Amino acid sequence: MPRMKFVLLHHSACEASAFHYAIDREGEVSSLRAESERGTHAKSIGIVVEGDFDQVTPMPSQLDALRELLMQIKMRYADIRLGGHRQVRGDATTCPGKRFPLKHLADWAACSLVDERDAAVQEQIDRQYRPE
Ligand SMILES: [Zn+2]
Repeated sequence: MPRMKFVLLHHSACEASAFHYAIDREGEVSSLRAESERGTHAKSIGIVVEGDFDQVTPMPSQLDALRELLMQIKMRYADIRLGGHRQVRGDATTCPGKRFPLKHLADWAACSLVDERDAAVQEQIDRQYRPE
């Protein structure tokens, strides 16, 4: 496993094209390449959410799917941080869009995500040791 530092969020109006996961308008997640394969940015897992979020806001189902996916990724890479494509130095872009709730999601990822991950891990452990 390469060392992953960031999960970078994109919208489909982005000119980058090598993503690891896509979330369509219905909130369906698909895997586009292995996490071990390099995407557009080094040491990053790229997620593209379908839509032009300079124009519209993402659907609630897309954000739900995104939070679920982020939680799974966080279970594999404990120290990974969440960012938007526009935060990559040197990339002049508004991606993942001016109307994408990036700050809200980053705050959630910094606080609640860890708690939710811990709860999910605990649940797995509990399930494993539950008597038949
Ligand atoms: Zn992008």
